[in-house]
Amino acid sequence: MSQPIQYSIVVPVYNEEEVIHETYRRLKEVMISTGEAYELLFVNDGSRDHTAEILKEYSQKDETVILLDFSRNFGHQIAITAGMDYSRGKAVVVIDADLQDPPELILDMIEKWKQGYDVVYAKRTKRKGETVFKKQTAKMFYRFLNSMTDIDIPLDTGDFRLLDRRVCDQMNNLQEKNRFVRGLVSWVGFKQIAVEYERDERLAGESKYPLKKMLKLSIDGITSFSYKPLKLASFAGVAFSGIGFIYLLVVLYLKLFTNSTITGWSSLIVAQLFFSGFTLFILGMIGEYIGRIYDESKHRPLYIVSDVYQKMPEKKRMYR
Ligand code: UDP
Ligand code: MG
Repeated sequence: MSQPIQYSIVVPVYNEEEVIHETYRRLKEVMISTGEAYELLFVNDGSRDHTAEILKEYSQKDETVILLDFSRNFGHQIAITAGMDYSRGKAVVVIDADLQDPPELILDMIEKWKQGYDVVYAKRTKRKGETVFKKQTAKMFYRFLNSMTDIDIPLDTGDFRLLDRRVCDQMNNLQEKNRFVRGLVSWVGFKQIAVEYERDERLAGESKYPLKKMLKLSIDGITSFSYKPLKLASFAGVAFSGIGFIYLLVVLYLKLFTNSTITGWSSLIVAQLFFSGFTLFILGMIGEYIGRIYDESKHRPLYIVSDVYQKMPEKKRMYR
């Protein structure tokens, strides 16, 4: 394609062999309808099924398809980051591979972008086909995160969004390791606007976000944008020593001015368990931050791309 690329569509994929044909077809349909030059940038995040082979074939047949093949599974947020690093379009759209995010919405995003917005994010008004547990925890998480941070991270918004080239470039300059991309987009600022949509069910297969990955993502979100958990220890410390002091006065009073003796093995044990539990919890929280500082200090690359597949000549090896 000789025209400069207008749109880059970044699609992170992990074990998506069941949906990938349909995703390709729908994306193609939408992008052709724009009448402008585009690239479909699939990032294979170490899939163990046939996703990579299928996409390799597409990349050999269709010159708009590029496949970045990771050397292993680095995680969804890192896959998005890699796609953004490699993208060349004047606008970059990040979309999930499972068609929960309708590709047709990209056209609405493009329209807003042409009106001069730098970031167009898709806000879910409904989520279909997801468990009550997932919906409720997600809802609570976004509200909790907002109360914890000073920057405004839009509620109920995933990573489905369009970014202008300059926003994408700014994002690519942020080198932090444990990335919470939707938070970083808010952090960089620029002119942002929402388009609303109803989130569909996954077309096929199951969620690639087990509870463990969801927890990691939420802790990344909180630790990347807030120090408040670290302050909890000092607040709790002040509160508990206050209570302790008042109780000391009560005990002294009982000892000096009354005959009642205080019994209480059970209350001691309960207090002991409660406070050591609380102390370990605070220590764990500090550990989350220290672990992330440690990650930063190692200066490892964010990801390793083993191969890039594209119809045109080059087959590059790149490390970052
Ligand atoms: N994904 C990924 N690496 C992972 C997990 C997920 O690239 O380690 C991709 C996955 O293929 C999909 C997107 O991230 O395109 C979102 O994952 P999923 O739909 O499973 O998450 P959910 O919608 O259930 O939150
Ligand atoms: Mg999904």
